Amino acid sequence: MYDLVIVGAGLTGGTLARCFAEAGRRVLVVEKRSHIGGNAYDEADDHGVLVHRYGPHIFHTNDEAVWKFLSRFTRWRPYTHRVLARVQDRLVPFPINRRTLVMLYGEEALNKGVKAFLDARRIPLAHPRNAEEQVLAAVGPELYEWFFRDYTRKQWGRLPRDLSPLVTARIPVRDNDDDRYFTDRFQAMPAEGYHAMFRRLFDHPNITVWLNTSWNDVSEEVHFRRLIYTGPIDAFFDHIFGPLPYRSLKFQWKHHEEPTVQPVATINEPAHPVFTRTTEFKHMTGQVHPGTTVVAEIPAADGDPYYPIPAPDTNDRRARYLAEASHLSAVRFFGRLGQYRYFNMDQVVAEALEGFRALRAEGW
Ligand code: FAD
Ligand code: UDP
Repeated sequence: MYDLVIVGAGLTGGTLARCFAEAGRRVLVVEKRSHIGGNAYDEADDHGVLVHRYGPHIFHTNDEAVWKFLSRFTRWRPYTHRVLARVQDRLVPFPINRRTLVMLYGEEALNKGVKAFLDARRIPLAHPRNAEEQVLAAVGPELYEWFFRDYTRKQWGRLPRDLSPLVTARIPVRDNDDDRYFTDRFQAMPAEGYHAMFRRLFDHPNITVWLNTSWNDVSEEVHFRRLIYTGPIDAFFDHIFGPLPYRSLKFQWKHHEEPTVQPVATINEPAHPVFTRTTEFKHMTGQVHPGTTVVAEIPAADGDPYYPIPAPDTNDRRARYLAEASHLSAVRFFGRLGQYRYFNMDQVVAEALEGFRALRAEGW
């Protein structure tokens, strides 16, 4: 008999399992994959290069509580993520900053500053209703086409005008030369990798983990009082309101017998017919190795559910599932898939820490 079953051994499930275990609850974590860590899982590839199996993960946060919590389970390697975008056959800094514009338009065009340059181009839209309008309002049509239109269409399998403005609003526009991808106070990689951090997170006498176990196969036989579900919420309800769409990725791996092949960790490829971006992990991990491994991301409709798709139609359907969930007193939904929200890692930890406090107050 377990006090609590948690479905999914990702960062959400791990954070909640740890909090409840330390509060004296006996927790069973059920994970259908062969490993803990969810999509943030990393491992050495066949050549011994440490890679992120489900695409590049950079930890960044402004939330001190999240930082402190995870710091109990890992030391950190300071790392500042930088990205170049291949636009007009050149590699330019991304997000768009002053240097990007100088490289594309020349110093002369920027002599009145970035704001004046963009003011002359952006389309005045006080309340952008979708991702296309959000970018047009920020940088105007030409930069929208070069950097955003095709990348977004590839990544999501939808036109930018059919996506929430929140999707592209993740990307700032800088009026200075700051070429960091993230500007959060804390930005780092787990010093020994994500998997070592996850091993310590789950390592508690009150936590039992079953790997290679789908909840659907064991739900009848496990005795428990309460359940936290971090898998896709629509699957939990057998898709009664229709399936929520998820965007997936295929990964194309390439190993090179050279120490390094890219100038920065990630190169975005808006104009490439297939890839969105390529990432060379050694920049992020700091690993010393004579070879290097690069992954290219190829968006796909089918496969593991990696991205909830923020859009008006999916919001409506999501709301119906969340309303259905609110009728269940012994089940709660958390995480990127459980809440169907485009969360970063720090956001799922924050949500889990907050959720733990709220559930304890309810007697969980
Ligand atoms: P998940 O990691 O998806 O874990 C859910 C787990 O539940 C999975 O392991 C799944 O196998 C399991 N599961 C589902 N259904 C069942 C079932 N029925 N039975 C048993 N188990 C089940 N965030 C950042 O902060 N920085 C980044 O740089 C970053 N890059 C990303 C890049 C990519 C390509 C992707 C896809 C995501 C990225 N993220 C990044 C987001 C990050 O992956 C998520 O915020 C985080 O991993 C979500 O954790 P989670 O536990 O909610 O979900
Ligand atoms: N985006 C884009 N061009 C880029 C980078 C991002 O159009 O070169 C858009 C795209 O819609 C993407 C979104 O901005 O999905 C958010 O980008 P981010 O890098 O945050 O995506 P993630 O790392 O979550 O895949």
